[in-house]
Amino acid sequence: MKRVLSLSLGEVVLKGANRRFFIRRIVQNIESILSDIGYIAINPEMGKIQVEIDPAVEEQAIRRLRFVFGIVYISPCWCFEKDWERIRKNTVDYVGRLIEEHPDYESFKVVTKRSDKSFFMDSQEVNMALGEDILNHFGDRLHVDVHDPDFYCYVDIKKEAYIYHHKIPTYGGLPLGTNGKGLLLLSGGIDSPVAGFLMAKRGVQVDALHFHSYPFTSPRAEEKVMDLARILSRYTTKMTVYSVNLLPIQKELNKHCPPEEMTVLSRRFMMRIANRLADRYGYKSVITGENLGQVASQTIDGLTVMNDVAERIVFRPLIGMDKIDIIRWAERIETYETSIQPFEDCCTVFLPKHPSLRPTVEEMERSEANLPIEEMLEASLETLKITHIKAKESE
Ligand code: ATP
Ligand code: MG
Repeated sequence: MKRVLSLSLGEVVLKGANRRFFIRRIVQNIESILSDIGYIAINPEMGKIQVEIDPAVEEQAIRRLRFVFGIVYISPCWCFEKDWERIRKNTVDYVGRLIEEHPDYESFKVVTKRSDKSFFMDSQEVNMALGEDILNHFGDRLHVDVHDPDFYCYVDIKKEAYIYHHKIPTYGGLPLGTNGKGLLLLSGGIDSPVAGFLMAKRGVQVDALHFHSYPFTSPRAEEKVMDLARILSRYTTKMTVYSVNLLPIQKELNKHCPPEEMTVLSRRFMMRIANRLADRYGYKSVITGENLGQVASQTIDGLTVMNDVAERIVFRPLIGMDKIDIIRWAERIETYETSIQPFEDCCTVFLPKHPSLRPTVEEMERSEANLPIEEMLEASLETLKITHIKAKESE
């Protein structure tokens, strides 16, 4: 018998003409994520991808496969030739082992899926026959419950036969890399890592851009952002982090502009730098953790003046979410604990007491009219540092 991790595909199977392309991409992503621990075979088969694996590395493989987008469930299976007597014997053995491990199991249901329509029994007949076999062996302990059983015994009859009982839910989404490269504005806060994750889940290959104000902000704050990028890279397999010092820009703004405009103006400069990096490195989208109404700079007018200088589509996947839901996501993707460490990113350095709530594009343009915008951007871009992170380093 072979040990196989059977991966159920989500909406990818609805993709019609593009389906092959999506499945090929998932297979590539799996090959890459398992390359160092090894696998025996990866076979797409009727709405699933079967990954044959050495049982010794199964747990490690499952941990990694949970991060592959496009998959909705992972089922660890036994796989063997679809000979009826073998199916009967292996089912009974399987259930025997399972109830030994779970003394509390009292009821079961057999669920057969027969994709091979030439098999001589239909699914219902297989369910009945295997149910009877199980009762013949373990009838003193188990009974059938078709509505709410303690466990399901799944039997898939495809090219080969598969037996399993466990479906480990995963994130779903679309395969990474099927929606271009996106540049995430990554602060040290709770929101932006979640935003990056959610766009990666929709197939965007996400890299990160972080602004600091060294020496006003500490190297420890930088480290925190790198830690967040490392956690995110579990989902994106790799991540490039661009770090830029915003201080040259902030100093200039501080000298020449009304204090209440500091926040929104510096946001416009962040976006301009994102534009430059997008041109240089081929990003099709910019991603932020903005959320409507959460803080002063995220009023509809604040978002409008930031959007005004954007040259790429800006994805704001958190825009309509409640904070509590964002925190739940942060906990689930394991960025929360790192995000709440108390190290400042650049924004607090020149923070105005009373930021303007209703900035307009005209006001911004008036304030920026006398600024040496090009030189300010160049001065900040000169500080650019690029770090490449690989998922496996972050385990
Ligand atoms: P976060 O939790 O992501 O910090 P926030 O609720 O604190 O978000 P803001 O501080 O107003 O909101 O930031 C809004 C968005 O602007 C962030 O989600 C992020 O995408 C971007 N941003 C803010 N500060 C930085 C920074 N220092 N470097 C990179 N991007 C930033
Ligand atoms: Mg923040």
